[in-house]
Amino acid sequence: MVSQRYFNQPFTHQAWFNKRLRTTGGRYHLADHHIEINPRFAQPQHSQALLGIVLHELCHYHLHLAGKGYRHRDPDFKQQLAAVGGSRYAPALTVPQVKWHYVCTHCGQCYDRQRRLNVQRFVCSRCGGRLKLSQPATD
Ligand SMILES: [Zn+2]
Ligand SMILES: [Zn+2]
Repeated sequence: MVSQRYFNQPFTHQAWFNKRLRTTGGRYHLADHHIEINPRFAQPQHSQALLGIVLHELCHYHLHLAGKGYRHRDPDFKQQLAAVGGSRYAPALTVPQVKWHYVCTHCGQCYDRQRRLNVQRFVCSRCGGRLKLSQPATD
């Protein structure tokens, strides 16, 4: 129904959740036109992101079927995506295992790390400023 509402065209192939998708929100398969969605986005707090992903993948889908430019760099794709308000890129998930979240005290650049950093030694790679531990990422 999202397809009908935003594209005025039905989605006649299949879409399902694929647990193996880890870093991307969704994927469109050129060969058989099905769409896979990362099940992590099925949770209610991600509903906005989920819609963005679905719209993004549907852009690939409809443009591809219509024989238009369906790749990310194609003007058709960019235009269509902007028109429906889909996410620019299938949004990458904030890496779920991130435990330590640091922020540069000087320029505000964020660093997410699986392991604890030695803030005495590790400085911001952008500006050389000091890092400080901030709230852990909650996803
Ligand atoms: Zn894409
Ligand atoms: Zn910095």
